[in-house]
Amino acid sequence: MPDIIHLLSDDIANKIAAGEVVVRPAAVVKELLENAIDAGADDIQLIIKDGGKSLIQVVDNGKGMSVTDARMAFERHATSKINHIDDLFSIQTMGFRGEALASIAAVSKVELKTKLHEHDLGTKIMIEGSDFIDQEACQSGPGTSISVKSLFYNVPARRKFLKSESVETRHVIEEFTRIALAWPGVKMSLFNNDKETYRLPAENLHRRIAHLFGKKQEERIVKVEEETDIVTVEGFIGKPEFAKKSKGEQYFFVNNRFIKSAYLNHAVYKAYDDFIEKSQYPLYVLKLTIDAEKIDVNVHPSKHEVKFEDERNIYAIVSASVRHALSKFSITPTLDFEADPAFNRHEFFQNPAQGKTLIENKVSKEQSTFLKREAGSAHQNKNWEELYTFSAQEEQKIEETAQQKSTSSQPAGQSFVQVNLRYILVQEENGFLLIDQRRAHQRIIYESILQSLQAKGFPSQKLLFPETIEVTAQQMENFNELKDQINQLGFELEEFGATTIIAHASPSEIQISNIQEFLESLLTELEHSDDYSKSHEMLARHLALYGAIRHGQKLNMEEMQAMFRQLMLCSQPNYGIRKDKTMLQYKFEDLQKAFHL
Ligand code: ADP
Ligand code: MG
Repeated sequence: MPDIIHLLSDDIANKIAAGEVVVRPAAVVKELLENAIDAGADDIQLIIKDGGKSLIQVVDNGKGMSVTDARMAFERHATSKINHIDDLFSIQTMGFRGEALASIAAVSKVELKTKLHEHDLGTKIMIEGSDFIDQEACQSGPGTSISVKSLFYNVPARRKFLKSESVETRHVIEEFTRIALAWPGVKMSLFNNDKETYRLPAENLHRRIAHLFGKKQEERIVKVEEETDIVTVEGFIGKPEFAKKSKGEQYFFVNNRFIKSAYLNHAVYKAYDDFIEKSQYPLYVLKLTIDAEKIDVNVHPSKHEVKFEDERNIYAIVSASVRHALSKFSITPTLDFEADPAFNRHEFFQNPAQGKTLIENKVSKEQSTFLKREAGSAHQNKNWEELYTFSAQEEQKIEETAQQKSTSSQPAGQSFVQVNLRYILVQEENGFLLIDQRRAHQRIIYESILQSLQAKGFPSQKLLFPETIEVTAQQMENFNELKDQINQLGFELEEFGATTIIAHASPSEIQISNIQEFLESLLTELEHSDDYSKSHEMLARHLALYGAIRHGQKLNMEEMQAMFRQLMLCSQPNYGIRKDKTMLQYKFEDLQKAFHL
C-alpha cells in the first residue's frame, strides 16, 4: 500500500487555522484592535462596511512595522511578542500566538500600510488568500492601517454562514465596546458604512461607560475599588434599581483582556444578593489585575477564557468588592456609631453561638421599644414638646454650620424628627437623612426573620381569642409544608379540618395587624411559586409587609432612635424589601449650593 500521509499545504493549513480564530467579522475586528493596542497606539479608528463583510479597516498611530516585519507578520506563528516558552506564562500583550494575521490573510484580501515613526517612507503590502501579491514603498502616516476586504471570499461555505448585516454589525460593535472599556485612555472611533457611530476621546472609565452606554449611566453606577495581595478589582457597577430586565452591559476584564466567566458572574450576583432578581441584569464593568503568572489565558484561541490559579479566593474577593461598593454608595459609613454612647456596637454583633442571638438583641430589646409602647395623650404631648424644642435647636445648628462653612467641628450625635408621620429626619455629621419609616421597618423585620430562621425562634404571645382562618385545600397543602417555619417565628398555627387553620399565638415582637390576610397572601404566593427554596424569603417578606408600622403612625424619640439603629445594622439598609429606597441623603454642602443657585 502506498504511503498516504502528507503534510498539508500552507494554504490549507492556514484556512483550517483561520476557522478557529476568524469565525466572523467581529473576530477580525478583535484581533486587529488588539494588535493596535499591542503596538502602543493611543488613537484607533475602526471602519466597517456591510457589517464587516466587505470591509474592516483599523487605522492606528502605534509603533508601526519595518519593511521586513510587515512581510513577516503574515507568516504563521510569526510574532514579536514572545521569544521563549517561559514568556507564555507572563504575557503582557493582548496577542502572542502569532496566528491572527496569517489566518485573516488566508480568508480575505488584505492591504497593509505601515510606517515606523522614525522613517520617512512606509511600506504597503497586498495579500489575497495567503498569496503574496505586492509590496512597495508608500507615503503613510506613522503607525499602521490594515484593511481586510471580502472576508471569506475564497471559503464560500463560511461566507454563507455569516448572518445579516445588522447581526454582524452588532457583534462588531460588541468587540469595539470591549476594547473601548478595557482601554478608556485610548481615543477610539467607529465608522459604520461611512457614518460615525462612536467618537470616544481619551477619558476615564466612568466617562467611557457613559459614552458607550448613555449619559444617564453616570448617575447610575458606583465605583468598585479593592486592592488585595492576590488581585486588584476596579471598575463600576450599576445601582440595583437600574438593573435591566434583559441581558445587558456586563463585562469582566482580566489584565485588560475581556473574559467570559460564569463563575465570576455568580460572585457578582451573590454580592447583589436580594437587591435584584435572577432575571435582572445589573451593569458591571469590572477589571481584575492579577500577576500574569497566576493566570493562564492560553486556554482558548479567542482567549475569552482565563484560568485562575487561585479561583476561590478571587471569587470571594470579587464578591466582597462589589458588596463593599454597594454599601459604600449607601450612606452607612458616614454615620458614626461609635460617637453615640447609647449604642453598644459590640452587643449587636455578638456571636449567636456564644450567648444571645443577634435577633434577640436586635428585635426583642429594641423593637419592642417602638412597637409596644403605651399610647397616652400626655405621653404624646410631651413628645411633641420634645420634638419641637429639638428641631428648633437643630435649626440653629444647621444655620451655624452653614455660616462656618465647615461641618467637621459638628459633633456626630444624631437627633431625630418625625416628618408628616411618615419620615424620620436624622441629622448626621455632614447632612441629614430622610428615612421612610415603613420601608425601613420592613427591611428590619425582613432581615431579622431571615436571621432568626437560621438561628433560634421568635418569642410568641398567646392570642386572647384564637382566630380561625379559612383556606383552600391547595393552600392547606402549602401551609403544611411551611408550618414549622412559620411557627418558629412565634406563631402557633394548627390545621383544624381540611380547610381551616387555627391561630393560637402570634409573634410578640412583630404585631401582625391581620393574621388572616397575612396567611392568605403568603399561601397564595406559595401557590404560584414552585420554588420552595424561596419560602424563607417569602415568609420574611410577608411578615415585613404585614408587621411593619404604617405611614401615619406616630413615633416617639426612643422609637425613632431604635429604628434608626436597627436599620443601620441591616446588611442592606438602603433598600426596602421591594428594592425601593428606604432613605434619602442630603448633604449640607449640596444644600448650601442649592441656596446659592
Ligand atoms: P500576535 O499579535 O499574536 O503576535 P498577529 O498575527 O496578530 O500575532 O501579529 C503578528 C505580529 O505583527 C505582531 O507580533 C506584531 O509584531 C505585528 N503587528 C501586527 N499588527 C500590528 C500593528 N497594528 N502595529 C504594529 N505591529 C503589528
Ligand atoms: Mg495579534
